[in-house]
Amino acid sequence: MNHVLFVASECTPFIKTGGLADVVGSLPHALKTHEHLNVSVILPLYDEISQDWKNQMEFKTIVPVEIGWRNQTAELYCLNYEGVHYYFLANTFYYERKGVYGYYDDGERFLFFSKAVISSLDYLDFVPNILHAHDWQAGLAVAFAKIYQPIEEMKTVFTIHNMKYQGLIPLDMYEDFFSLPREHIGGMEWNGMLNCLKAGMFHADKITTVSPSYANELKNPYYSEGLHPLLNDREADFCGILNGINTDEYNPLKDPHVDVPYSYSRAKKKLNKLALQEELNLQMSEEKPLYVMVTRLVEQKGLHLIQCILEEFLQEDIQFIVLGTGEREFELYFSYLANKYPSKSAAILTFDEALSRKLYASADFFLMPSLFEPCGLSQLIALQYKTVPIVRETGGLKDTVSSYNELTGEGNGFSFTNYNAHDLLTVLHYSLRIFHDDGNWKQLCKNINKCKYDWKHSAAEYNRLYTKVLTEQGVSQN
Ligand code: ADP
Repeated sequence: MNHVLFVASECTPFIKTGGLADVVGSLPHALKTHEHLNVSVILPLYDEISQDWKNQMEFKTIVPVEIGWRNQTAELYCLNYEGVHYYFLANTFYYERKGVYGYYDDGERFLFFSKAVISSLDYLDFVPNILHAHDWQAGLAVAFAKIYQPIEEMKTVFTIHNMKYQGLIPLDMYEDFFSLPREHIGGMEWNGMLNCLKAGMFHADKITTVSPSYANELKNPYYSEGLHPLLNDREADFCGILNGINTDEYNPLKDPHVDVPYSYSRAKKKLNKLALQEELNLQMSEEKPLYVMVTRLVEQKGLHLIQCILEEFLQEDIQFIVLGTGEREFELYFSYLANKYPSKSAAILTFDEALSRKLYASADFFLMPSLFEPCGLSQLIALQYKTVPIVRETGGLKDTVSSYNELTGEGNGFSFTNYNAHDLLTVLHYSLRIFHDDGNWKQLCKNINKCKYDWKHSAAEYNRLYTKVLTEQGVSQN
């Protein structure tokens, strides 16, 4: 049996701010189908995690955690949920705060988490063969695993979910936070800062990212945020494995938030649209094409393109709804549109899982014109809810959405290549034309009905990678 320990900063159903939580929440279940694999997950115990979950957790022990000269502790809790073991590390100072990220000391908070994970390894119910860390918040766990070698033969895998977020700590904190010789700075330092993402990449035995196209893009300066030389050096140990989604969880027939459950029926899907229009005070009409976005409101999601053309597109007989939180600039823009066009546009500026499901279920089109997109789960969820994605051809969007072609009848969405607002507008107009063309629309919907983006294939790829990392370096599997 090979034991894999996932180290991550978020995980459904406990705590979620974006796609990372979906992946960490669903991949262990998919990996469980491989009999010789046992996957557990460790994450911080945030205040935000509901009391319901906390009541179900079992206290295990107090773990001593040294951060430089500070002798800290973390309380280790454990919970078995649907056959997967979850471990939580509690610390009042670092995690009893509102929300998950966005504090001046986030670097220190996740440095603490990473060190606490390594200090906890003695207290878990198993000995991990593989420590699989996700994103910058867990990058230092990989570095500490390599530097301290708490379990001599344990191998490490590091997955980059988004290269944009690297977790930077001022270099002059090195002595203060790490009781380590200066020779270790090289593996962490970048551009005069300590870089948690780089630390993970530098020390991991294998590096992955979340789609083959993003893996290629990351080798180039345009997408790599400066770290392409490291990835090019480690090319033999680096690959892209496409994310999947939990298709049981994202299922419009079983989803409790969907007003009128459906599988393939467009007629039932339209009833969801009517219910949502009523809820949001939009003009009620099942025939009006509804375009939606469910997203973090950040530049990455293509919002500068949207800002250039959406008002022009709203002059058509369409409706538009956005559900999102993020930067003020975009919140103000969407509020402005919603105020100016109240019968055809709405902006809900919160994080609301239930409402997100209603949007996926009610919409005709899902917009995702990202500047870059490591994988993107929203377009996969949209496809599950038989909603047509409109994307820019980048990263995982390129790997999962193919543009509809009237001549061949192939394609499961609409796409454009260059990061250009008028290219987006052209594609939006094209989508509208196809929507009103019965034959083509039916064909497109038929293609979408056949799409499948569950974890089966990608979980098998991770399994192969684990086997490779364990055998390649001469570790005997028991
Ligand atoms: P990212 O991880 O970059 O934010 P993804 O497309 O990979 O983007 O995943 C986003 C996930 O977060 C999806 O499950 C999406 O439905 C969800 N999400 C984003 N914003 C909101 C919101 N405001 N309310 C509810 N769910 C949201």
